[in-house]
Amino acid sequence: MRRARSLDELQEIPMISSADYKEAFERFSISDIVLGDNTVTWHSSSGSSGEPKWFPYTMRDIARTREQILRLYRVLGVREDDIVLQFSSVAPMISDAVPYWMIDAMRDAGLRIQCVIVSFYLLQFAMPFAIKIQPTMLTGLPSMLMLIAEHLPESSRERTMERLREEPSVKHLLYAALTRVKRVRPRDVLRRLRVGVFGGDLLDPYRPYVEEEYGMEAFDVYSLTESSVYASECEAHDGLHLWIDTQVAEVIPKDELEREREEPGYVPKATYLHRAPQDTEGELVLTNFREALPLIRYRTGDLIRVRGTSKCSCSRTHPRIKILGRLDDLINLGGLRFSEAQLDRAMRRVKKHGKVRAWRAVLSREGYKPRITIQLQAQTSNESALIEELNDRILMDIPALGTALRVELILPLEVEFTSDLGEDLTTGGKFRRVVYDESFARGRPE
Ligand SMILES: [Zn+2]
Repeated sequence: MRRARSLDELQEIPMISSADYKEAFERFSISDIVLGDNTVTWHSSSGSSGEPKWFPYTMRDIARTREQILRLYRVLGVREDDIVLQFSSVAPMISDAVPYWMIDAMRDAGLRIQCVIVSFYLLQFAMPFAIKIQPTMLTGLPSMLMLIAEHLPESSRERTMERLREEPSVKHLLYAALTRVKRVRPRDVLRRLRVGVFGGDLLDPYRPYVEEEYGMEAFDVYSLTESSVYASECEAHDGLHLWIDTQVAEVIPKDELEREREEPGYVPKATYLHRAPQDTEGELVLTNFREALPLIRYRTGDLIRVRGTSKCSCSRTHPRIKILGRLDDLINLGGLRFSEAQLDRAMRRVKKHGKVRAWRAVLSREGYKPRITIQLQAQTSNESALIEELNDRILMDIPALGTALRVELILPLEVEFTSDLGEDLTTGGKFRRVVYDESFARGRPE
């Protein structure tokens, strides 16, 4: 049994990664993993890069999460009589549960608000109702909110119901969004909107667009299933305050991550976030105090930049960070997540019209819309037949990508043939197969 009585002693305890957690879950029984027998529920991560990870909650864990949700909404400026429309994912993911916990948290605090919860899969269905109740706050993924903005027809209840009667399927509900009729912007029909709360994807490339389309102030929020602890922007919009009174946050600087890749067995050193110099970039490591399953020095796989540790102009003292992206091979396009390994598997299965020798995916944006360009080094006598086979293969192996393409969450795939993919290597000397164009993080003006 290792004990830590101070921050210095905490750093003597080894860090754990997502892979360690998965391994422990496979090897041990639930009673060996969970502390005590007070578990009341479980939530899972999205499992976009393989098996989802499951996390237990006790009533006290839920109560603490509720306190944080209340704090979050105070930071975002929730007011009496606000009407909050929350676009969420579905059970067993945490973002399905949090809106319900929010209702409880607001009630406990004596705040009178309304909260309407709508699954992403039924977002089109919600628009006529949203127009009726006129929400003041919206929460969701920036890409999904932009999808609604793009395809907002003259959202009458009759029209939606008519389509549903014709073909009552989830797929059709998404397709229903595709018919462009008259250009109506969300701000024209949702006139009371004041605040938008966004998580689950980079907000920055979308920010000017959602603010313009919806006529509201956008706030970036970061949370993860493993920890459910929040970081959120304040009114200064200069990085996300990471709440270090409810968790211990560390950052493994980039040079330490590089050394770990180059020297097998090297244990990287982490710095406490509140002591890290401004502009430090590295992996975020969190220690939380959950009752059912506390995570100690958990490597989040999220790459961050330290914006500042001094007092913010809003007067809060929690350090501010910026989320830069993922360190693992997860490709996160908001509503669409898949792994480099899945893409690689699809490439290796191509054989009818040629063979893929090497490939690289370049992620860029037109405006805020993501585009995936696949550069191929391939042996084939018929390039267009190979492209077709490759497309079919990818859509079969990564069905979510097919859906994202159909509903135009991302731009059509582009394939380029090349005789040489060049020498773009990672710091660890591996061939870099997923490359982010500069436009990806910032967006590219149309
Ligand atoms: Zn602030």
